[in-house]
Amino acid sequence: MTRPDVLIVGGGVIGCAVAYELAKQGLRVTLLERAGLCAGASGANAALIWPQAMHRDVALDLTLACARLFPTLGEELGADIEYRRTGGMVAIETDAQWAQMTEYVAGQPAVGLHAELLDGAEARRREPLLAPDIRGAVFAEHGGTINPFRLTLGYAHAARVRGATLVTGTEVLSLLRRGDRVTGVRTPTGDLESEVVILAGGAWSGPLAATANLRVPVTPRQGMMVVTEPAPFHLRHVLKPIKSDTDMWRFSQPWPPDAPGKPGYDPNLPPGKGMGVAQTVTRNLVIGSTSRFVGLDRSPTLAGIRYVLESARRIAPAIGQLRMLRAWAGFRPYTPDGLPLLGPAPGVDGLVLATGHDGSGIGMSPVSARLVAAAVTKADPPLPLEPFDPRRFGDS
Ligand SMILES: Cc1cc2nc3c(=O)[nH]c(=O)nc-3n(C[C@H](O)[C@H](O)[C@H](O)COP(=O)(O)OP(=O)(O)OC[C@H]3O[C@@H](n4cnc5c(N)ncnc54)[C@H](O)[C@@H]3O)c2cc1C
Repeated sequence: MTRPDVLIVGGGVIGCAVAYELAKQGLRVTLLERAGLCAGASGANAALIWPQAMHRDVALDLTLACARLFPTLGEELGADIEYRRTGGMVAIETDAQWAQMTEYVAGQPAVGLHAELLDGAEARRREPLLAPDIRGAVFAEHGGTINPFRLTLGYAHAARVRGATLVTGTEVLSLLRRGDRVTGVRTPTGDLESEVVILAGGAWSGPLAATANLRVPVTPRQGMMVVTEPAPFHLRHVLKPIKSDTDMWRFSQPWPPDAPGKPGYDPNLPPGKGMGVAQTVTRNLVIGSTSRFVGLDRSPTLAGIRYVLESARRIAPAIGQLRMLRAWAGFRPYTPDGLPLLGPAPGVDGLVLATGHDGSGIGMSPVSARLVAAAVTKADPPLPLEPFDPRRFGDS
């Protein structure tokens, strides 16, 4: 293998998108993935694009910048990424939720977004599958869905077409470090060197960085998901049940330091924020998810899956008739402030981080990849890089 300019560790959506952006600029790129492409969170997620559930800060800017790219991204990559902006419906079941959502809708114009509060009759008129006793719904104009496999593989294909080498089934055992510089990676078949190593290892980024005595503050945040058989009905929107415990619902708000979902909170049920029901183009329903800090435990629990299914069935009872095809747990790469780590790693040269997208990495992928590419090539970034600078957590 000829010496690449850039070695990327991890074949999820972020690694593949970065490979594409750098190959497009003529760099020699090699990506190493220990399993298959999409083996991590990029093949285990809820497939939602939902900018209106982002914190009102740079996370929203990043997600909206991506939302503007999705409609034409498939064409650019030469792949059908099955992006559909259906609009989203947040189902309201109680008066307390109605009050919360009234406040939420009123706040949307302040961030340049639009949402509508619908009473039960209007909500059911627009989405007939909603339960007859639903109190109402919020229509969020930006809600939508995408096929995360096709997106990731689309990036991979487009990167290969532009000369990148993507190697699956090759684990990076450690980062090679000489003094204050990361110089390459160690694999079972030998060492590889390059000018720049990009760590895009998702929830596994922390242990990999530790092999070079570096601290990357990424924690796996587990989420359980379910997929059903193709439904005989058509869901017009992406649906979101509101969490049953209203105190845990932080819709579009930053989480306070002691909020549920933060490490330290009871890692058991009831799960943290974020539930969704999306219908794929093949009519299957993708439903989830929970939120737990349980390390890298891949096993969904019966209680977790029951919670996921009950939340969905309560707001759209027809879902209860469907057969379940599969349940699984995936790992969001969670950071302490919920923002990704994009740019040079603290304390060393030669290592760039492209990780930490937590529960939004599909929706944040296109512009994140451009930001990382800009950090590598020293080009002007499409958004300010500072908020995502890994050095914000201090030196290793
Ligand atoms: C349950 C769940 C629901 C989600 N829902 C949504 C959603 O609706 N919308 C959204 O935008 N985002 C969602 N996300 C988040 C999104 O899936 C992630 O943010 C995104 O996929 C992260 O991509 P990544 O490439 O950083 O990580 P991953 O996809 O995890 O990729 C990392 C890759 O690195 C590889 N790797 C690790 N260690 C090594 C090594 N030593 N050597 C070689 N390779 C290695 C892994 O095998 C893996 O393939 C969800 C995530 C989960 C778990």
